[in-house]
Amino acid sequence: MAAVGTDVEIMLKDIGMTYKSNTNTDVVALTNVTMNIYKGEFISLLGPSGCGKTTLLRIIADLLTPSVGEITVGGETPREARLKRKYGIVFQGAVLYEWRTVKKNVMLPLEIMHLPKKDCEERAEKMLELVGLKDFAKHYPRQLSGGMQQRVGIARALAIQPEILLMDEPFSALDEFTRERLHEDLLRIWRKTNKTIVFVTHNIQESVFLSDRVCVLSPHPGRLSALIDIDLPRPRTVQVKNTPEFTGYVAQIRSSFEGI
Ligand code: ADP
Ligand code: MG
Repeated sequence: MAAVGTDVEIMLKDIGMTYKSNTNTDVVALTNVTMNIYKGEFISLLGPSGCGKTTLLRIIADLLTPSVGEITVGGETPREARLKRKYGIVFQGAVLYEWRTVKKNVMLPLEIMHLPKKDCEERAEKMLELVGLKDFAKHYPRQLSGGMQQRVGIARALAIQPEILLMDEPFSALDEFTRERLHEDLLRIWRKTNKTIVFVTHNIQESVFLSDRVCVLSPHPGRLSALIDIDLPRPRTVQVKNTPEFTGYVAQIRSSFEGI
């Protein structure tokens, strides 16, 4: 069963975003996005390139202020949520510091919070264990594969113990095999930590495999075109991809893009 709860974590109401330009070509990136994201759910924002996924994620993260509309996070503004360190963010590239070891990369946000060194170390070690990189703490990023670097990115995002994990196409640069392993691991981490996860992707299969709900966005201008409950049993393993239920969801979502 999809584990969508009833406590609203993020409320979006009539959100619109227009990028102003100094020429005459303003870009309407999002229009009329109204939806709730529930506490503890795994929701994907799915759509083709340019449909406003990153824009929406950045609005939630308080990295961008919407042109119109209302957004609350746990009843507060995104800014308040950010200041309370409610967000962990994982981008497409892991963006690690090459001169810091893996462990020191994970410790960085904790150092910025001025946590005592011992606490930083302990928490970083715990996070590395969670993402399966316990034995690589002293390695440098260049010594890791792309998949392992993304694991470090996840460990670093989780280190500050955020309530909400925002992920922007975190696995899109990885090969299929690595990606599938990370999918299973991400679900395990999600189950263990009870985070709310907002996951941006342009990959239909990925969104169906991971999510409780898939939010389908369509472009020009970006808008919400469907919200689909993914009622596949959990815990999920790659085998679920061979079931008619899974392929049914993929087909349903694919058809919702037809004519776009
Ligand atoms: P996605 O992540 O789904 O690919 P984005 O949110 O990045 O989409 O972009 C949505 C639209 O907004 C696109 O047309 C893009 O070109 C435009 N856009 C994104 N960021 C900016 C910006 N900083 N300035 C102007 N236009 C932008
Ligand atoms: Mg994007």
